[in-house]
Amino acid sequence: MSWTCHGKTNKDMVAKLHEYGILQSKVAADAMIQIDRADYVLDRRSAYIDSPQPIGYNATISAPHMHAYCLDYLSDYLKPGNRVLDVGSGSGYLAAVFAIMVGETGRTVGVEHISQLVDRSIESIKKGPAAHLLDKGALSIHVGDGKKGFPDEAPYDAIHVGAAASVPEALVNQLKPGGRIVIPVVDSLMIIDKNADGTLKQKSVMDVRYVPLV
Ligand code: SAH
Repeated sequence: MSWTCHGKTNKDMVAKLHEYGILQSKVAADAMIQIDRADYVLDRRSAYIDSPQPIGYNATISAPHMHAYCLDYLSDYLKPGNRVLDVGSGSGYLAAVFAIMVGETGRTVGVEHISQLVDRSIESIKKGPAAHLLDKGALSIHVGDGKKGFPDEAPYDAIHVGAAASVPEALVNQLKPGGRIVIPVVDSLMIIDKNADGTLKQKSVMDVRYVPLV
């Protein structure tokens, strides 16, 4: 695990994540460069430090290297025009990066249960280049219980879960055949792929420490 990807600027931080091999996808790196992490943290001075940061309400924005790993595992599922769900969207940072990747012909949905975080995440997104995607309805963030997913916009090509104790069945049901879920379960980051016939293939890709969904 790398805790050394601190950068002086957003671009510098992303370059280090790429250099250390954590962020291999060029498309994901380009999207991360566009979304300035400083707009999503409470203290802009610590925006480019490679660690989680408090965002209030007992929540944190995940560390840049965790965002990078998740983006890398999902990058093939975040093609322009695809549909993506971010469960426990918190700061809104990843939802904004997803939205840049799937674009205006795609659909990005965030679900977060703390309404104040939803409001703040929308304000953060409005400061950057994903703002027009909010206006066009290609990106939306909703208050709700993420364990239920967001059936109105399902099925999804990609589902990211920011925190979990188990795999919610609703999320599996809302995944397209051929789609992928990236989800921390207890202390490991899991990838769940849905095969064309609807069966699932699961693997644990690394040990992690996340706060579980409540
Ligand atoms: N990935 C986000 C936040 C990760 S922290 C980021 O990097 O900013 C996990 C988030 O999940 C927190 O914001 C927390 O409030 C939210 N959360 C926890 N349980 C939830 C639930 N049942 N439904 C929706 N959101 C939930």
